[in-house]
Amino acid sequence: MPEKPPVRSQFCALHRCPWRAKSQAAFRAESAFLPLNQYRQAKAVDAALRRPRRQWLNQTMYTHVAVPEGVMIDDEGVWIQSLRRPDGSATRPALFLDRDGVIVEEVDHLHRPVDVRVVEDAAAVIAAANGRGHPVVIATNQSGIGQALFGWDDFIAVQDRILGELALNGAFVDGVFACPHHPRAKPPYDHPDHPARKPNPGMLLRAARLLPIALEESWIIGDRARDIAAGRNAGLAGGLHLSTGHGSSGEEQAAAAALAQAGGYQVLKGTSLGDALAALPLFAASP
Ligand SMILES: [Mg+2]
Repeated sequence: MPEKPPVRSQFCALHRCPWRAKSQAAFRAESAFLPLNQYRQAKAVDAALRRPRRQWLNQTMYTHVAVPEGVMIDDEGVWIQSLRRPDGSATRPALFLDRDGVIVEEVDHLHRPVDVRVVEDAAAVIAAANGRGHPVVIATNQSGIGQALFGWDDFIAVQDRILGELALNGAFVDGVFACPHHPRAKPPYDHPDHPARKPNPGMLLRAARLLPIALEESWIIGDRARDIAAGRNAGLAGGLHLSTGHGSSGEEQAAAAALAQAGGYQVLKGTSLGDALAALPLFAASP
């Protein structure tokens, strides 16, 4: 049987990966002595090999993330995760929680599991909500993703650490929502005022579409005034502003207090997440 002629590879000799074209130098060296028609043909193949990679780099990045089961990143780039679904379809009050500075100690743009410090009372508060049938939902602005300081992979790793530590202490989160948009983010996350970025209510409204939540009876806990504002904008019963994390600033405290409405939206103050157990009407009834 005659020996097959060797197939001349069009792929990068160094990496041997089909999505990477040869280096320009390698291409030039190999094609320098080709007849003109073969040179043009080889050049066209080389250009075609380069094209998909350039397009991939220019595309919106969230379409290329491998996410855990139960997660979807919607058309607007917002992280939507359903971890548990309460029994039945009857709506019920939920407990919305900001993440950084509330469930975990504030770390600027937290993106490494090793930096995760779950606060002392987090498991107790979440388990108390679990015991009373209140869906527990994390709603977190993650502009670090939009600013390309870290990626969804880092977010996934940090979330794994947080949720794992809570679960070890008998506390379970039902849904997680994260918004990567920011006015100074890189495309496609450079939105001047994205409807999902707190203080806007987009993440809370998405949660109410995903889970059986009665927004008007629900509460939010946050360390920034914009967490409390998101609760008001979503039509919640009230918000608990903590003086943890960014909440230690007098400006944040004044801004949060100013969000209260007489006879309407309630704003309570707390010094630690554990204060929620005594302060929030959600925990008034015994489980
Ligand atoms: Mg926070």
